[in-house]
Amino acid sequence: MKPVTATLHNFNAGPSILPKEVFEQASEAILDFNGTGLSILEIGHRTPLFESVMQEARELVRELMLLDNDHEVLFLHGGATTQFMQVPMNLLNENDIAAYTESGTWAVKAIKEAKVFGHVELAGSAKDSNYTRIPRQLSISPTASYLHLTSNETIAGTQWFDFPYDCGVPIVADMSSDILSRELDFNKFSLIYAGAQKNMGAAGVNLVVIDKNILGKTIRTIPTILDYRNHIAEGSMLNTPPVFAVYVAMLTLRWLKNQGGVPAMEVRNNQKANLFYSTLDSLPLFKGPVAKEDRSRMNAVFIMSDPSLEKEFLQLCTQEGMIGIKGHRSVGGFRVSMYNALPLESVSALTELMKDFARQKG
Ligand code: PMP
Repeated sequence: MKPVTATLHNFNAGPSILPKEVFEQASEAILDFNGTGLSILEIGHRTPLFESVMQEARELVRELMLLDNDHEVLFLHGGATTQFMQVPMNLLNENDIAAYTESGTWAVKAIKEAKVFGHVELAGSAKDSNYTRIPRQLSISPTASYLHLTSNETIAGTQWFDFPYDCGVPIVADMSSDILSRELDFNKFSLIYAGAQKNMGAAGVNLVVIDKNILGKTIRTIPTILDYRNHIAEGSMLNTPPVFAVYVAMLTLRWLKNQGGVPAMEVRNNQKANLFYSTLDSLPLFKGPVAKEDRSRMNAVFIMSDPSLEKEFLQLCTQEGMIGIKGHRSVGGFRVSMYNALPLESVSALTELMKDFARQKG
């Protein structure tokens, strides 16, 4: 069904909403990049024109995340799925152990790839709750090469708020769906990776932030393109980067800085999440399956107490221009993604619709 309204509210889980000005600037650059008469798509990546894009993108990440000098910023090919294997390939010896937390679909995928390279121990799991909470009381071998966690489970709708910073081993985090959405001490993580297509830009590029001191400890031979050390040595320009995706990430990072940086995003994201969850909790027709203290501020999942009404509610949402609220195909129900670029007005429009629907059915 096509929306009958001109105003669209984009709750897609990824690729997802980006700031309108980023779309405008990115479109301009396709036709004429910075007044050069050339498209961003046709300039060499080793020209000063593109090199300055890469440099600005890397510097903005450093500035926005308040990174120390041990941490390097890379923009690498492939989605976050590539990092599921690149992390253990670089950090885990065949006979060693890596600790993983099993928090949902994305963590499970990361675990599967790590097993290709070494031993995995489950430091904690939320499987028994059907991933409706974040694993707690972790048990981590002191000899583990690292602890891996998924800071925000995009499908389950859970998020870490209490990180095990003092666990005694390097922490690796998949922050694909909450990168730059809230203030964290990013320097406490030894490696952070995130596909760009949610909070940071267009699909096709990964952000990797890595403490260079954790590298060089594995004995396997790592293919050139997959060895983080080579990317660091070449300033994230080992081969042709996904130039357009890096450009869109740079524009999005500029936007984020102009908005007041990560602290401003956190305020904005908390407002949206508070409005959404308080509405959800006030309407018996809707139910949130996730433990309240672990509810994601990026991806809110919910079901209806009368499942036979789900289709009608979804139709109403589509008609009113609410895009992308159908839950992931593996879990059903609904999912509302509230990434950085989503305005509070969109959440407000949705919560009003939920209230109207509940009134009608009540
Ligand atoms: N990790 C998380 C938390 C994700 O949400 C996703 C994608 N939705 C991925 C990893 C995989 O990312 P990609 O599709 O870019 O490989």
